[in-house]
Amino acid sequence: MKGSHLVSVLQGKEKQCYLTGRTNILHKHHIYAGKNRSVSDKFGFWVWLIPDLHNMSNNGVHFNKELDTRIKQDCQRQFESDGNSRQYFMNLIGRNYL
Ligand SMILES: [Zn+2]
Repeated sequence: MKGSHLVSVLQGKEKQCYLTGRTNILHKHHIYAGKNRSVSDKFGFWVWLIPDLHNMSNNGVHFNKELDTRIKQDCQRQFESDGNSRQYFMNLIGRNYL
């Protein structure tokens, strides 16, 4: 780990929807929620999403299990390819999504 992230692991400083690329009216989604929310904040495990793909429609990540899993996997994969071990990820989040 190279210090805590104030930027998104998946998007860096880019402020656009992770799924559509839209740049206005965005929600910040914590990828691993609940008790992992503060860890997600600290380590940059979050993405920008348009409201419909966040929690304002049934297609949103909060209601669409498949999409939720995909983003959780994308984030873990990126975190690991940034040089962090799987064990470290599991220590932070409590499980392995890959
Ligand atoms: Zn969310």
